[in-house]
Amino acid sequence: MKIAIIGSGLTGMTAAWNLRKQGHEVTIFEKEKEPGGLARGFREPQWQDSVECFYHHIFTGDSDILSLFKDLGVSNSVEFRSPKTVMYYRGKFYPFDSIPSAILYPGLGLGSKIRFGFVGLYLRLFSPWKEMEKVTAEEWMLKYAGEHVYRSMWEPMMLGKFGEKYAKEVNMAWLWARIHSRSTSLGTFRGGFQTFINIFSEKLIANGVEIRFESNVTQIKRQKESSITVTADGKNDDFDRVIATISPAAFSAISPDLPADYRQSLLDLKNMGAVVMVLSLKHPLSPEGYYWYNLPKSEGFPFLSLVEHTNFVPRERFGNETIIYAGDYLETDHEYFSLPKNELLQRVLPGLKKINPNFEEDWVINSWKFSAKYAQPIPFINQSEHIPSIETPINGLYLASMSQIYPWDRGMNYAVRMGNTVARMIG
Ligand SMILES: Cc1cc2nc3c(=O)[nH]c(=O)nc-3n(C[C@H](O)[C@H](O)[C@H](O)COP(=O)(O)OP(=O)(O)OC[C@H]3O[C@@H](n4cnc5c(N)ncnc54)[C@H](O)[C@@H]3O)c2cc1C
Repeated sequence: MKIAIIGSGLTGMTAAWNLRKQGHEVTIFEKEKEPGGLARGFREPQWQDSVECFYHHIFTGDSDILSLFKDLGVSNSVEFRSPKTVMYYRGKFYPFDSIPSAILYPGLGLGSKIRFGFVGLYLRLFSPWKEMEKVTAEEWMLKYAGEHVYRSMWEPMMLGKFGEKYAKEVNMAWLWARIHSRSTSLGTFRGGFQTFINIFSEKLIANGVEIRFESNVTQIKRQKESSITVTADGKNDDFDRVIATISPAAFSAISPDLPADYRQSLLDLKNMGAVVMVLSLKHPLSPEGYYWYNLPKSEGFPFLSLVEHTNFVPRERFGNETIIYAGDYLETDHEYFSLPKNELLQRVLPGLKKINPNFEEDWVINSWKFSAKYAQPIPFINQSEHIPSIETPINGLYLASMSQIYPWDRGMNYAVRMGNTVARMIG
């Protein structure tokens, strides 16, 4: 069959890899100049490795992407480490990534720590997510982990990810999925994930997949009984099957034939956007070597996550520069999306001084701003009943997006799983 895939993120690339192996003729349309989507990265000439535009790591249980690495013969390039994660409590940072550090953490009393530990263990061992999607994460955690544990350990993350508007509405299955599937050991790809994406796209091309970059698809329409027409930059091409790996709302906008109820199910889905600043610095921000800082917004930090990438991947790979990310999940009409980079930088800098009082603006060598309006789907109560089917009502047309990997939280592993799933449905 002639198959079109809209998007060269990990979902689209994985689907293409499988479908090409099955002998189909595959064309990927990608509106950007490069492959990778949300997982893409960039590299300065003095850096050995690329840096992801949005911080990325994988977990030891990410079996789908680990199998893909194996299939592509690149497993040797995966590096797992256990970088330090810290919590903010009364003006100081405390490690919270191992049993000994949790015992020493001053922000929870012994009773709360025991409750936190038991609830965590239960969520790691058991999988009653169907029951859990019937209640909000807040309700469930208040009941089982208790007020103190929820307010100090989980609520800051919920507020940071979903904002005041949605944090209280997110269902417990979402939080279960994160706790259930994540490891403290984190993985990266030697050279950065862009190196993997480059290898992957080269292998796709070598195997006969056509990737059309800077090719923005503006319409998907069944014009003839036997084929679907994809319009990109004013040019039409006919295909037997079409897979869109873009956001449900964007898919709705370019697919005029969708029946009203399916279209409405796409438009009912909600998501958060993300705005991230990447900074290269002359000196390390954290002399203690912290990688991941959990920051409560209530303490006045101008961002939710601060990630010191060079406490995960050594500074030597970046010409001895320190690489940090300051990021936030935001509603898609937030002013950060349109704020010029230098103005956003001025908002970010005081937060860095709060983390390290010795920090000065002249430590900044360079800065970059990245944003994505479709960055984090929001799962509400009984979300499984509202997930649109991958196979759309239009014969031969498929939607394979981050919003459909539920109950799992979006991630590269699940993009690969989605790519495998949709290819299996077609093949
Ligand atoms: C801030 C942030 C942090 C993250 N951290 C992690 C992490 O630590 N670990 C992890 O595993 N995952 C992480 N993720 C999630 C991960 O990046 C995604 O789950 C995954 O990359 C999604 O892949 P995808 O192919 O489904 O979608 P995308 O990567 O969004 O790919 C879609 C592609 O479609 C293209 N496109 C869109 N519209 C059109 C059109 N009309 N015509 C042609 N092309 C089009 C886009 O340019 C894009 O390349 C993070 C994401 C964000 C935003």
